Amino acid sequence: MLNVTLEMRCNVCGGERFLLPTLDETAQDVRCAGCSAFKCKNQDLERAMAAAGPRRSGRHPAL
Ligand SMILES: [Zn+2]
Repeated sequence: MLNVTLEMRCNVCGGERFLLPTLDETAQDVRCAGCSAFKCKNQDLERAMAAAGPRRSGRHPAL
């Protein structure tokens, strides 16, 4: 899992750090790093993940 700080807050503990699944993990859920609450994927999260690490899933043409 990747431990990253996102521009969103856990709605349980208010934390900004989340654990993101890596490509080789089967779990695709995002958890809060503080209380392990699950977060749903959303557009903000997708952007945060894209900005958090190197582009590993190939190039995405501009939408
Ligand atoms: Zn939390």
